[in-house]
Amino acid sequence: MTTLTLADWQRRAADLAIEGRAFIDGAYVAARSGATFDCINPANGQLLAKVASCDAADAELAVQAARRAFEARTWAGQSPKQRKLVMQRFAALMHDHLEELALLESLDMGKPIGDAMGYDAPASANCIAWNGEAIDKIYDQVAPVEESALALVTREPLGIVTAIVPWNFPLVMACWKLGPALATGNSVILKPSEKSPLTAIRIAALAKEAGIPDGVFNVLPGFGHSVGEALAMHMDIDCITFTGSTKVGKHLMECAGKSNLKRAFMECGGKSPNIVLADAADLDQAARSAVGAIFYNQGEVCTAASRLLVQNSIKAEFVAKVVHYAREWVSSNPLDPATRIGAMVDEVQMNQVLRYIESGKEQGATLLLGGERTRVESGGYYISPTLFDNVTPDMRIFREEIFGPVLVITGFDTLDDAIRLGNDTCYGLAAGVWTSNLDNAVKVSRALRAGTVFVNNWDGGDMTMPFGGYKQSGNGRDKSIHALEKYTELKSTWIQLG
Ligand code: NAD
Repeated sequence: MTTLTLADWQRRAADLAIEGRAFIDGAYVAARSGATFDCINPANGQLLAKVASCDAADAELAVQAARRAFEARTWAGQSPKQRKLVMQRFAALMHDHLEELALLESLDMGKPIGDAMGYDAPASANCIAWNGEAIDKIYDQVAPVEESALALVTREPLGIVTAIVPWNFPLVMACWKLGPALATGNSVILKPSEKSPLTAIRIAALAKEAGIPDGVFNVLPGFGHSVGEALAMHMDIDCITFTGSTKVGKHLMECAGKSNLKRAFMECGGKSPNIVLADAADLDQAARSAVGAIFYNQGEVCTAASRLLVQNSIKAEFVAKVVHYAREWVSSNPLDPATRIGAMVDEVQMNQVLRYIESGKEQGATLLLGGERTRVESGGYYISPTLFDNVTPDMRIFREEIFGPVLVITGFDTLDDAIRLGNDTCYGLAAGVWTSNLDNAVKVSRALRAGTVFVNNWDGGDMTMPFGGYKQSGNGRDKSIHALEKYTELKSTWIQLG
């Protein structure tokens, strides 16, 4: 948590020297073409920095550097214990720069500084440390075969991993990939979103200072259709690990197939149901949680509880509580430590969310709260927390990922109705159920097709728990020991004995 005031953060923001260059082979460099793009502060619409706009030429340089480092085994050849020590130093440096990283994150994508200080910056550092600490505690295997052979099952790094990440939790998403990919000995090329590249660029210098060898960690800011596409299609990259929309995730699977069949792991979108049964123990707690689960990070969360399904026998009472708690979420300046809901990441995203709000009205949903742009005088991109009731499964706001502060509410009668509505989506990232009945909790959590199910909470979790989706929410898992497996090949070695 932060003890700094709004004025303190504003002063620090004014004094901040922002690095906007790419990081290739251990050094900050401009894009080969010299091109840059404008990085805008969504809280006021003003220019934060000019950032290198990388393309295929820069991708080529980064791949060559990453391959050289991998072949020279400057990182892969270090013992797990040595890599652990370097990653612990990297995490410690991130901790030393916590306020700077949190400030960059807040300025770059509009999230409240309290959230960036309370979650994004420390969770990212913890992820690097956790993966480093894990790596010298994982054993390979000896298979149970006849006496005349020694059969080894070992894990080796893949080679070059490219991580393409979104803008909503820029540093956390990057570290969920970077931590396990580096710990297992790979070279990494990170492509942050063009909407929020600054923390990825900043931590490259910290990685180098910690002792990550040149070429092992590269950062290429730029656009998806340019440098992103070049990385996805590259013939000498061994793995693409992606977090972002389902649409781009599907495209990247095709790129992997059309190029060199690189390993492809996709963490994609969601439209998660939060089910409240009439037997929930504490309706106030459930309502408070339901509101936080959609408005946190301006609703720009893949696991946002964006569909609230409420049993009809308590619906009127429960919805009144939801409206009451939603009024506590007021859009405000992201640099104010008291702010709970900040700015949308950019004008494009704001307009997309406003179009969804219009479609909800047109298709006959009942607007209970919000539904408009706010704080226009700031020059930034804010949307007031929005609630829709009487939403039916045929409506776009029920089916499509809005990725903004918009909650849609639907009633149901029976447990089976709740399960059917919950699963009535192409996504399967998260789901929740509120009940005091153990049988109901187990029945619903087993039946919901989602990578994570929350029972009587939303967003409980830890680095020790895998994170990812069923169905079109993706494949593979970030976090936990399971994530380390993604970045390794499994090798069988049969040694015939005399
Ligand atoms: P996006 O798919 O538009 O972009 C994600 C990244 O892909 C960006 O870096 C972008 O530049 C890049 N990209 C775009 N087109 C590309 C192309 N043709 N080739 C290569 N790279 C390309 O997603 P976004 O708008 O940045 O993020 C929001 C989405 O991310 C939401 O759908 C959200 O649910 C999802 N998300 C999922 C998780 C998860 O863990 N499952 C976590 C966070 C966000």
